[in-house]
Amino acid sequence: MPDGTTILYIEDNPDNQRLVQRLLEARNFQVLIAPDGPQGIALARETTPDLILVDINIPGLDGFETTTRLRSMAHLRGAPIVALTADSQEGTRERSLAAGCDGFLTKPIDPRRLHEQLQEFISGKREELPQTVETTVLREYTQKLVERLERQVREAMVANAELQELDRLKSQFLALLSHELRTPLTSILGFVELFERGTLGPLTQSQKEAITVIGRNVQTLVRHLNSLLYLQEVRSSQLRRVPMMPHEMLQRLMSEIRARAQTTGVEVEDSITPTRTYNGDMVALEYAFRHLLDNAIKFTPGGGKVSVAMEDEESRIILRVQDTGIGIPASLHEKIFLPFYQVDSSLARNYTGVGIGLAIVKHVIEAHGGQVTVRSTPGGGSTFTVVLPRG
Ligand code: ADP
Repeated sequence: MPDGTTILYIEDNPDNQRLVQRLLEARNFQVLIAPDGPQGIALARETTPDLILVDINIPGLDGFETTTRLRSMAHLRGAPIVALTADSQEGTRERSLAAGCDGFLTKPIDPRRLHEQLQEFISGKREELPQTVETTVLREYTQKLVERLERQVREAMVANAELQELDRLKSQFLALLSHELRTPLTSILGFVELFERGTLGPLTQSQKEAITVIGRNVQTLVRHLNSLLYLQEVRSSQLRRVPMMPHEMLQRLMSEIRARAQTTGVEVEDSITPTRTYNGDMVALEYAFRHLLDNAIKFTPGGGKVSVAMEDEESRIILRVQDTGIGIPASLHEKIFLPFYQVDSSLARNYTGVGIGLAIVKHVIEAHGGQVTVRSTPGGGSTFTVVLPRG
């Protein structure tokens, strides 16, 4: 037996997995195990097994469907696929072969002969069906497959409609909640201001300090609520596009950001080339630009640097916001653009926020036909790039 001959075994039963693995490894085969069809297909995609052994009764995609999918992979063309089943129902062998298997073994496995049986297939043995039988079985198989597909599509459509309804209710609830919370907060803010101005009588030093802390925290709450309300608003309303100068808007925001960066000890540099007129939603773009700048400052510790660049090309405007901050792991680069998603690391947890800013940014930029992407590594800083196409 040649060393390193690789068998991919797709089987959900752990006892069978162990048995086959032991038997084959004792004969110098290398055995890869996948517990279901999709994982088997994924493993087959990234390896080149010499033979694939598929249990027919696996959950989800069954062995027939898994085989049909594997058969369509060009790099597996020479690799035999062998069905293994305890299913003694009439027609199972024919269905396996029609679905693309090259052979059919029944359980219980013959421990003394399994390696020989597989080796025969690796050496070229093929079981075949007479043409007329194959055509009939194939037709039945295809019909069953389409019936299953139809059932699944129907179920997916129902589930999707339910999810959409839930999403609508969630948005409605969030909008209601934000409105309801804003009223009492406005009143709290008003009283804090009266205290700060001394209108309600003199305060001791520690009372003044306490009022400042209350004021700051209420402001933070108001900011979060405004973001929540804004998320609902941008999702449900159309853009109001007007001729504007993106570089002027960015320059204005830069002076705000510089002031903030100074207090946290972050260096800011920019390279903003004047843009030609662009048709954009001023309010929405200002939110998006400001949020990217805010995040860059927020997630960059003192001593770090934020670099902002804007270029105007023939067909698009590009904004790059680069920081030397804490960075984001690659696995989360898509997720951070989802509403309410925040990176759950001890580093990121030190920063306040509700995780909707980037969802708004993405929505706004995509509504302009553009895209926003991130390149980032933990500890190596982040670069957010916005591309706004013209025309
Ligand atoms: P939040 O408003 O809470 O900051 P965002 O939607 O803006 O939420 O961002 C989602 C998450 O993405 C943040 O909680 C943070 O972990 C991560 N993130 C966003 N921008 C940066 C950045 N410049 N550097 C590092 N992490 C970032």
